[in-house]
Amino acid sequence: MQYKIPETMRAMVLTGPGKFEVQTVPVPVPGPEEVLCRIGGVAICGSDPEIFRGDIAGVWPPHYPFIAGHEWAGRVVAVGPGVTKFKVGDRVCGEAHKGCGHCRNCLEGHYTTCLNYGNYESGQRHYGFINNGAYCQYNVYHIKSLTPMPDSVSYKEGAMADTAGVALHGIELACQKPGSTVAVIGPGPIGIMAMKISKALGAGRVIVIGRGSRLQSAIKLGCDDAVDFTACDPVEKVRELTGGLGVDVCYECSGAKGTINQGIRMCRRKGKVVMLGVAPDNVTEEIPLRYTTANEISILGSKANPNTGWKVMELISRGNISVESMVTHTFDLEHIADAIDTFVNRKDNVMKVVIYPNGGEDA
Ligand SMILES: [Zn+2]
Ligand SMILES: [Zn+2]
Repeated sequence: MQYKIPETMRAMVLTGPGKFEVQTVPVPVPGPEEVLCRIGGVAICGSDPEIFRGDIAGVWPPHYPFIAGHEWAGRVVAVGPGVTKFKVGDRVCGEAHKGCGHCRNCLEGHYTTCLNYGNYESGQRHYGFINNGAYCQYNVYHIKSLTPMPDSVSYKEGAMADTAGVALHGIELACQKPGSTVAVIGPGPIGIMAMKISKALGAGRVIVIGRGSRLQSAIKLGCDDAVDFTACDPVEKVRELTGGLGVDVCYECSGAKGTINQGIRMCRRKGKVVMLGVAPDNVTEEIPLRYTTANEISILGSKANPNTGWKVMELISRGNISVESMVTHTFDLEHIADAIDTFVNRKDNVMKVVIYPNGGEDA
């Protein structure tokens, strides 16, 4: 199979802090161990608005012009030198991080905490953050950042693999056991995924703490207990629901101030709090030190989705988790401003928004 590769493409280009336009730009050419992918679908991530606004310009993105976007699925349309893992025509989903592959952390498999982060020459990449991403029709990716995707998985579903992987990484860090009682604080996309995957892995019970339409979504999508933190003290409520014992694991998925403290206090002795929510830089929190040590509560930071690609693709493609219902809105690339507005301003009970840069699922 061969695809005709155009010389130019449409891309959402960030031109400065808070500024972007859909422009015509050159299609990149794959280098060694890289492939050119046609982007089928790309989902807006909770971390994208910060990049669009330029809150930490100089870091994410490191420069302008820049193309963001990292939660995507698509098709390999050309391969660079030395590529044996993929062939033209393969469907794939992407991953933002690609480690240098040779630092201590990468060698141990912890490539999202690569010690050469930001060093291009080392081979490290972070697509959509420091290297161009997927809000465009085509992009080049290193083969290490791609997971094969069966035909039965739509681009829209494949674009959920990143979020699912982020949740799974936190669950793996917690070594969650079958039958566990789990709390999820913050039923946004990552919280809902943490709930779904926890259940798929045999959690006995998942208690979701949130409010409003997102808590309603958690109820609709199958949480065992829902706690509205605007109506009660969530710690007391979780203790009451668990006969005073507390939960085995709490996944903090909101990044809001005060929630780590709540997570610590709603765990049973020996329980674990996993930090999946990405808090703004200025959010700090006092934690009950004596209580935490006396009860051997573990607090685990969790970054991105290392080594989760094939696992979440199995869960999605075999129907162990359903992700399609999480995509509440789709847009084409030319209407990306509307897509961002819908996502950022949480219009119309939005959960996840997928952009189709090449027109739709058939592309
Ligand atoms: Zn993301
Ligand atoms: Zn590394």
